[in-house]
Amino acid sequence: MKIAAALPLLFAVALTAQTVPAAAPQPEEPVGYTDTPMLPGLPWHVHDPNRPHPPIVTPTPTPGGAPSDAIVLFNGHDLSHWHSRNGTEAPAWKLTDDYLEVVPGVGDIATNEKFGDVQLHVEWASPTPPTSNSQGRGNSGIFLMGRYEIQVLDSFSNPTYADGQASAIYGQWPPLVNPIHHPGEWNSYDILFEAPRMNGDKVLRPAYVTVLFNGVLVQNHRAILGPTVHHALAHYVAQPAEDSLVLQNHGHAVRYRNIWIRKLPAQEEPKE
Ligand code: MG
Repeated sequence: MKIAAALPLLFAVALTAQTVPAAAPQPEEPVGYTDTPMLPGLPWHVHDPNRPHPPIVTPTPTPGGAPSDAIVLFNGHDLSHWHSRNGTEAPAWKLTDDYLEVVPGVGDIATNEKFGDVQLHVEWASPTPPTSNSQGRGNSGIFLMGRYEIQVLDSFSNPTYADGQASAIYGQWPPLVNPIHHPGEWNSYDILFEAPRMNGDKVLRPAYVTVLFNGVLVQNHRAILGPTVHHALAHYVAQPAEDSLVLQNHGHAVRYRNIWIRKLPAQEEPKE
C-alpha cells in the first residue's frame, strides 16, 4: 500500500482509538422479577427468579436419535431390555446388524422395565414386496402399557377400516392423515402418552395420546376409550400405574429399529 493511500486509514484508526472508550462495564441483565403478578394457583411470580429450572438434556445431533436422558430400548444390536411376553426368556425375534424383525408364531415381546407417562420413538418398516391386504398386510403394533395399541400396518394403498390403519388408536380413532412411506421404507412414530389415572376400576382421567407419524401429527391429544380390543367396544378395567411396553407379533415380518423412551416427569399444576 502506498503512503498516500494508507494515510486516511491511519487517521481513522487514530481517531477510533481516541473516541471509543475501553470496554465499559455493562449493567447485568436481571434474571427475574418479583414485582410482577402472581401466576394463578402457583407460588411463582411472572418471571420469578426462584422458580426451579428444568434439568439439562443434551439432544442428539442426528434427527430421531435418543436424547441424553432417554432409555435406549433397542439400538440395533442387543435385546437386553426385552423378554418374550409369554415368559421370561429372551425374545425369539430375528436380530440383524441394525434391526429387529418379527418371527411369526413366537409371540409378542415386552420391555423388562415398566412405564407410565412416556415419550416414545419407534422406527418400523413393513415387509416388501407386500402380500395380502387389509389387516393381513404388515400388521404389528405398539402396545403402550401392554394395553393401548398404536397400530402398525402397511397402509400404503391398502384399504382397511379407518380405525385399523397405521397410527390409528386401534378400534377407536383413525389418524388425521396418512403420511406412510412405501412398503419396505422406514417409518417413524413419536408418541406422547399419558397413562390413565385410576382408582381401582374407576377412571379419574383417561389415557391420552399424541402421535407424530413420519413427523406429521396424526393423533392430537386423543382420549383413549380403554385397553385395545378387537371387534368390541373398549372400556377401562383396573390396571397398574406402570406396565411394560409391548411390540405385537401379528405373524408378519415387520422390522423395528431405533427405539427409545423417556419417562415423563409430573408437570406442575395450579391449585384449584
Ligand atoms: Mg396390530
